[in-house]
Amino acid sequence: MRKTVQTGRPLWAEVDLDALTHNIRQIQRRIGPDRQILAVVKANAYGHGAPAVAGAAVAAGATHLGVACVDEGVQLRAAGIGAPIVLLGFLPAWEAAVAVVHRLTPTVTTPETAHALDAACRTHRTTVDIHLKIDTGMGRFGVNPDEAPAFAQFLQTLPTLNLRGVYTHFAVADETDKTFTRRQFALFMETAGRLPPGLLRHVANSAAIADLPEMGLDMVRPGIALYGCYPSPYVGRDLDLRPVLSLKSYVARVHTLAAGETVSYGRTWTAPRASRIALIPCGYADGLPRITSNRGAVLIRGRRAPVVGRVCMDQHMVDVTDIPEVALGDEAVIIGRQGDAVITAEEIAALAGTINYEVLCAVAARVPRHYLQGGRAVSRSSLLDPLGGE
Ligand SMILES: *Cc1c(COP(=O)(O)O)cnc(C)c1O
Repeated sequence: MRKTVQTGRPLWAEVDLDALTHNIRQIQRRIGPDRQILAVVKANAYGHGAPAVAGAAVAAGATHLGVACVDEGVQLRAAGIGAPIVLLGFLPAWEAAVAVVHRLTPTVTTPETAHALDAACRTHRTTVDIHLKIDTGMGRFGVNPDEAPAFAQFLQTLPTLNLRGVYTHFAVADETDKTFTRRQFALFMETAGRLPPGLLRHVANSAAIADLPEMGLDMVRPGIALYGCYPSPYVGRDLDLRPVLSLKSYVARVHTLAAGETVSYGRTWTAPRASRIALIPCGYADGLPRITSNRGAVLIRGRRAPVVGRVCMDQHMVDVTDIPEVALGDEAVIIGRQGDAVITAEEIAALAGTINYEVLCAVAARVPRHYLQGGRAVSRSSLLDPLGGE
């Protein structure tokens, strides 16, 4: 029997798989029943924990999964996920054999990768599904539109490679002005029209799903929307997304400072009065940006307690002088809701001068994940038990 490993650390990410399911249904409703969903679960499912999120996404109707690199795909296979897994990033030739053995679906943009996949397939007496990516204006990864037809023809000379899909990625779909996105889309459609028929065409990220559903084509590729967040402040808010991740902790110490005493490295905060300080065992190595020092807040007893002093690697301190009931063991919400109060990933991102994506992805591997389904805890994963027990 498998023993559940629980870390003693009073810090965890709560991952609401019901919210994830709700978000996927919202997306499916937006695009209609005939289009497929590739759930983007790269970067440990944007910090949420890829194996559990991938399983729940497939159960909710996603037909494909998307990861950035081979290791992420292998992790999902090790967790027993059987759905097609598209490698959205560059595949170096030396990783081709691992991709083939684990039945991953690479994106192919160079002859080197194509030949390496072909060689691996011959060795293992198998074939591999591949997608072709076109760079229509992101200026990042893909083949140039004018080279795509010849490249697709070359791919068809390698009988072990099954070209299944063609796609592109938008640079500014999350901005108000959709002119450039429409230009990218037109270039994609024109290029795809010069490729073999029957390919799965997919272009829409979360922003395009929200604002440009007419670009749904055969499949869409939501990432941030799966996790209940909007890609930017400029994207329509009518998808009714529910945030999936909360980051929670406990008050690990309450102590009293006299006026004039200081908190944390650098002594950047001095108590202006007799103060009660609560210790929260969550630091920048857990994902709380250090730049929230003396600026951020956590929720305790439904109220905001300001971060005082510098955020340390593994812990930080908050001022609870104005919440006198605070006691050892109280829940502290770093991201999420407590009563009517809420701290969003967007709020932390704004303090840190970044985007919600980066805040979510930063939730560290050492933070245990607790998965909720049907309103109750169904599984957890941790550094010691990455694939999770019951
Ligand atoms: C990350 C990624 C996505 C998802 O983008 P969101 O903005 O999170 O929806 C889609 N497609 C590709 C190719 C990606 O790399």
